[in-house]
Amino acid sequence: MDNSRYDRQSVFSKIGADGQLTLSRSRVVVIGVGALGTVIASELARAGVGFLRLIDRDYAELTNLQRQTLFDEADAAQGAPKALAAAEHLKKINSGIEIEPVVADFNVTNAEKLIRDVDLVLDGSDNAAARYLINDACRKLGKPWVYGGAIGSTGAVMSFLPDGACFRCLFPAAQNSGESCATVGVLNSLTAIAASMQVTDALKILLKSPALDRRYREFDIWNNSIDAIEVAQNPDCPCCAEGRFEFLNAPFTNNSVSLCGRDAYQVAGNGAVDLDALAEKLRAVGTVRHGEYTLVFEGAAANFTLFPDGRAIIKNVKSAQSALSLYSEYIGA
Ligand SMILES: [Zn+2]
Repeated sequence: MDNSRYDRQSVFSKIGADGQLTLSRSRVVVIGVGALGTVIASELARAGVGFLRLIDRDYAELTNLQRQTLFDEADAAQGAPKALAAAEHLKKINSGIEIEPVVADFNVTNAEKLIRDVDLVLDGSDNAAARYLINDACRKLGKPWVYGGAIGSTGAVMSFLPDGACFRCLFPAAQNSGESCATVGVLNSLTAIAASMQVTDALKILLKSPALDRRYREFDIWNNSIDAIEVAQNPDCPCCAEGRFEFLNAPFTNNSVSLCGRDAYQVAGNGAVDLDALAEKLRAVGTVRHGEYTLVFEGAAANFTLFPDGRAIIKNVKSAQSALSLYSEYIGA
């Protein structure tokens, strides 16, 4: 195939033709295809990373378009699953690589399976629970991963390799500031910078470059600060020192989880749902949009998006309990 599209990388001496070949043989998973994940996926696809798995449980909305670079107004209007919309978009940009979209919640039931066959894991998630799970799974399977975070005007990035400190060494417990991008906002220039730093780390890891910066880097692009901190391995770390993977080994609760920064909960459900049959029933009690991949329901007392695997995102609810009751009322037990 014509590799001239990669000229600007292969003439860059730190990559070269050999490095480009390595990238073409590399396999990367991006967990979360939102503000960080769309930029990460776009840059990795354009850079010619040979295999990309894009995992996301959510669907596109108008409020995403400010910073999530792989979706357009049509995706938002349809409520297209983000993983699929991102993959469709990227296939038009680089048809020479393999892109595998996965519309699913990344959780204890699938974490190891989804990262076992890749070289590197990129964090595009928006919550601590996902990151602790990524950390456990990567450490257990000996995979490197690149953390990224962004809120307001503050971003942070760190690469975790199997032979160094892990995410739990950096943050022994989840830090709950009570803030989210929905309440304090986030700049699109920040998410692009943080994601691009993750991608730069990713290229260095894939190419085994000694230039990789293994420090924790935190920056505030509005208040003009940048810090880099060495993170030592904690000799008492349950994950990387003791090999106890508490997040990965936690029992899966077929329950509802809050989605970051939204009055929305995800309910896992009990397996596949016949969307056609359900759409017929729901039309009696509200508006149904049954797209190619999702069923969107808007009624007087409930709003949700349902996926074929039975998973639903219930909107405008304040508690896990109300999400579960609406699920059983409208979708089934
Ligand atoms: Zn650790």
